[in-house]
Amino acid sequence: MPRRRTVFTALTAAVLAGVAPAGTAAAAPGDAAVPPPEKVPRAVGTGGAVATVDPDATRVGLEVLAAGGNAADAAVAAAAALGVSEPYSAGVGGGGFFVYYDAATGEVTTVDGRETAPQAMGADAFVGEDGEPLPFEEAVTSGLSVGTPGTPLTWQRVLDEFGTLSLAEALEGGTELAEEGFVVDETFRQQTADNEERFRRFAPTAELFLPGGALPEVGSVFRNPDLARTYDLLAADGVEALYTGELGEEVVRTAQEPPLAEGAAPVRAGLLEESDLAAYEAPMREPTRVEYRGLEVYGMAPPSSGGSTVGEALNVLEGSDLAALPEVDVLHTYLEASALGFADRNAYVGDPAYTQVPLAELLSDAFAAERACLVDPQRAAPKPVPAGVPDGEYGPCPAAAAATDDGGPEGPSTTHLTVADAEGNVAAYTLTIEQTGGSGITVPDRGFLLNNELTDFTFAPADPTRPEPNLPAPGKRPRSSMAPTVVLQDGEPLLALGSPGGATIITTVLQTLVDRLDRGTDLVDAIAAPRASQRNAATADAEPAFIDAYGAELTARGHAFAAVDEIGAATGVEFLPDGRLLAAAETVRRGGGSAGVVQPGG
Ligand code: GLU
Repeated sequence: MPRRRTVFTALTAAVLAGVAPAGTAAAAPGDAAVPPPEKVPRAVGTGGAVATVDPDATRVGLEVLAAGGNAADAAVAAAAALGVSEPYSAGVGGGGFFVYYDAATGEVTTVDGRETAPQAMGADAFVGEDGEPLPFEEAVTSGLSVGTPGTPLTWQRVLDEFGTLSLAEALEGGTELAEEGFVVDETFRQQTADNEERFRRFAPTAELFLPGGALPEVGSVFRNPDLARTYDLLAADGVEALYTGELGEEVVRTAQEPPLAEGAAPVRAGLLEESDLAAYEAPMREPTRVEYRGLEVYGMAPPSSGGSTVGEALNVLEGSDLAALPEVDVLHTYLEASALGFADRNAYVGDPAYTQVPLAELLSDAFAAERACLVDPQRAAPKPVPAGVPDGEYGPCPAAAAATDDGGPEGPSTTHLTVADAEGNVAAYTLTIEQTGGSGITVPDRGFLLNNELTDFTFAPADPTRPEPNLPAPGKRPRSSMAPTVVLQDGEPLLALGSPGGATIITTVLQTLVDRLDRGTDLVDAIAAPRASQRNAATADAEPAFIDAYGAELTARGHAFAAVDEIGAATGVEFLPDGRLLAAAETVRRGGGSAGVVQPGG
């Protein structure tokens, strides 16, 4: 099919001067040692804003906005570009959650693009022959963990509901990027290195991501013509190519019989069938909503625990006048509120089609007030703290349910992008293939990795006497932590943000919101601030800079920290009081993110 470039005809070099990353255009296929495009963590201006982890994806989103596309169009286009340049975090083989503020209606809506379990998957799917839960790594690198991809239908749904472009038009930028290539940076090389061993186990993965049998070199140009052809197929045939067509057949075959490299040890086979793909839906869902300091905070409802856990913790925090407290007191309170939120998340949140999630109670002020009485302003509660009882009957200080602990390992996978347009539409979109590198299994000749999202199910109940909301079941969506978030002030958008990082997504979003909204920290600085993540465990994860700055004082209050290199990689957009937009990304984490606006300055 001849490619159409209509979206880009209105784009002039001048419009993007200063925001388009230098170097991309000069990066001809085969060139070596091209400098990776410049990354900019802050951009201020008008006409629309895009923040992603990647300069090419940000450029693609800005091009769509500059050509008259809206935030939904630009979000899909940027996501398709991330499928190329962030293939270990995002792509058509995965899923995600999309939160949208529609300026025309003033409403916030969401699209649930979460992967689903095959019909053949039972509650003990991740229990081994010995009766023990499978080792996590064995489950990750397997066909078994592959759920029905939700991302293609999410893109189509978003465009149908909110966008102005066709899927074919929205894919153009990503297709071009896949054909022409992106410049390999240190982050991509390192992510490949971290996955090298398991990528070598699958012939098509090694062929694609270890070109010539070696790690891609920093400064080389990485092309993915197979993915360009996959995008062309989706553009020509629509997402049916995946859900009922030839691409779907190949996905199913690949999950069922992972294409091992010669001599590689076998992996567990997948249960996915074509009927699972045909039955897939990406439903619109009501967002979660809490009021916080007079603002409205909207997030993603179950099957993500992002909105409910951020929302509950904010409600708990609202009982403290954080703006008046010293920084260490704020952080102490944040850590305690987060632990409480996680206790309830672990006890009550799963796919709402399979488990009765008491969402309204979890997000009620009365429940939060009851939970808040477990927060001592000076001393950390012993962890894990017990789950509450969100039954609508609340007293001053409650009887609590059993303690819950968040076990699972959390990696720095996934990607979040934030877009706003000149009309005031806002998209907060988190997408993932779960682990960095997903299942490690590439669909032969299709240029994308399959997810391992089903490892987000709880493999076996921690406490067999309590109901476990997140066990596998046929067609079920595993509980997520993704927390794309939109904040309104007087009904108008104030800011939007999100992050990768598994369950640390929730704490990253929460900590950044507290820093921005309560402490008045500039959004870029709030994103850059050192992070800690208390997920109701005896020890909270914390970045070294956090431990250096606050570790001694917080430890004296009873907190314990384990150092981790990095937590999250957030992006956000803020509507400034003077009418301009601020796009915000990481300054350092994951090599820095990429913020851009259509017209800088203003
Ligand atoms: N699968 C994770 C979730 O849905 C996201 C993956 C990650 O960020 O590590 O919460």
